[in-house]
Amino acid sequence: MSKESITLGPAFGETWVSTLLATWDGLTDALGDLDRRAGDGDFGTNLATAVRLSRANVSAASPANYVDWVAAVSRGFLGVGGTSGPLFGMLFRDLGRCVAGDAAPTAAEFGSGIVKGLATVQHYGEAEPGHKTMVDALAPAAEATRGPSDEAPAYLERIAAAAVEGAESTRDIVARRGRASYVGEAARGVLDPGAAALAVVFQSAAAGGKAVDTAWITASPRS
Ligand code: ADP
Ligand code: MG
Repeated sequence: MSKESITLGPAFGETWVSTLLATWDGLTDALGDLDRRAGDGDFGTNLATAVRLSRANVSAASPANYVDWVAAVSRGFLGVGGTSGPLFGMLFRDLGRCVAGDAAPTAAEFGSGIVKGLATVQHYGEAEPGHKTMVDALAPAAEATRGPSDEAPAYLERIAAAAVEGAESTRDIVARRGRASYVGEAARGVLDPGAAALAVVFQSAAAGGKAVDTAWITASPRS
């Protein structure tokens, strides 16, 4: 089967976004703590605000299709400050634009949204892989979309696994972009919160409505 003919299903948008908002909600303290150790400490509150605004958008719009579910998240982030708010907002805008009308995306369309989102995040943020940012999770996810065509679960799981592995790689490096770059060597050993939050996006997409395993973030060793 080709990626063009694999649909992610009519419930994908709702299942994905609901799982994602619930999972992020449970991680705002842990991710905020990471930003306090290597950054300026506001990531947790920025993410909590984005989740709250996204939920308000869902309540106000009662999304009925993939495009509307993803737009609720995009607009939620675009209403938040920090560096991550606009970048996540634009990423979700690209993820929503990968499909037209009220259709569910195919695997190929979802993959093209990820690739476009990476280009947008890099255009505005100017971060390369290895700079200890969300790009370290997003770039491997985009690369994983190019692999062999599988059934939808295996395709989404491959993207999620690549994003988690990329996010985990940020522990070992110092930051070249963002506020974590101001703390130099102190950032070594600390998972980048934006990369971790990004990986959760694709873990949630692959979870099919089940709980997402975030122990790799919450059990993050303290230096
Ligand atoms: P700020 O750095 O303005 O305090 P946040 O705390 O909201 O912003 O977000 C920090 C996260 O944003 C980092 O963990 C990193 O993943 C991401 N980030 C920072 N700068 C960039 C950049 N130039 N490109 C991509 N992502 C970035
Ligand atoms: Mg910050």
